[in-house]
Amino acid sequence: SKGLMTGKRGLVMGVANNRSIAWGIAKAAREAGAELAFTYQGDALRKRVEPLAKELDALVVGHCDVSDAASIDACFKTIEDEWGKLDFLVHAIGFSDKDELTGRYVDTSEANFSKTMLISVYSFTAVAQRAEKLMTDGGSMLTMSYYGAEKVMPNYNVMGVAKAALEASVQYLAVDLGPKNIRVNAISAGPIKTLAASGIGDFRYILKWNEYNAPLRRTVTIDEVGDVGLYFLSDLSRSVTGEIHHADSGYHVVGMKAVDAPDI
Ligand code: NAD
Repeated sequence: SKGLMTGKRGLVMGVANNRSIAWGIAKAAREAGAELAFTYQGDALRKRVEPLAKELDALVVGHCDVSDAASIDACFKTIEDEWGKLDFLVHAIGFSDKDELTGRYVDTSEANFSKTMLISVYSFTAVAQRAEKLMTDGGSMLTMSYYGAEKVMPNYNVMGVAKAALEASVQYLAVDLGPKNIRVNAISAGPIKTLAASGIGDFRYILKWNEYNAPLRRTVTIDEVGDVGLYFLSDLSRSVTGEIHHADSGYHVVGMKAVDAPDI
């Protein structure tokens, strides 16, 4: 992939640590020659993200809380001042109260429903609005989804409803931004043990279940998702937009999941 991303500059939102999916994508893009910028959420993550940014010679834009419009504006102002334009955007952000990522969906509160939608769905549109203005030579926007958007997964609950809305918004954004040669896609990744995933009830069980039932008989890594991300961010996928692409060892095609995980 060397040179595939040479001359391209991109903003990566959602690195929390070296297990983040955003980090897997950032590494793949950097290896292919991209120039990167990172945001982080809050001071607690700053000390994790700064050394990671240094590893990839990335610009640290600063704190960005996507539930706060002023904070998003400030980050895009910095990008504009530093780079003047943008070629790609990675949105790997999601949040829901972990007390509602267990038990029944029907018990979801209005407050957490709204917060989950704001941070996990609307924020992609909010950053797309700002990024559009900087993608003067076209561009690629990428977000992260999960199979819980399509089918009911235990404990995923309101997050599944949010991912369904996120996937729909990928299609609407693709249509709106297509005439400017800005492509908008999502990767629907198989389960990976990350900070966000640790909030989901019985996540270990979901991982094992996927491992035993996916056609490839294994779960996916952030480096594997990173390589798929590289395809979407690069010109290799220049004819592709509005796509929800599964990177899940094929799990989503299996109709009859037959094998229970024997060791849990
Ligand atoms: P992660 O915890 O490493 O990343 C989640 C990120 O969201 C963190 O960097 C966090 O700071 C950020 N975030 C949360 N609220 C925010 C806010 N208000 N403002 C700005 N940033 C905020 O976990 P991850 O698994 O790498 O998650 C990245 C994306 O991938 C999420 O959208 C997640 O739903 C999705 N995803 C994860 C899996 C999985 O199994 N891990 C599978 C499919 C999709």
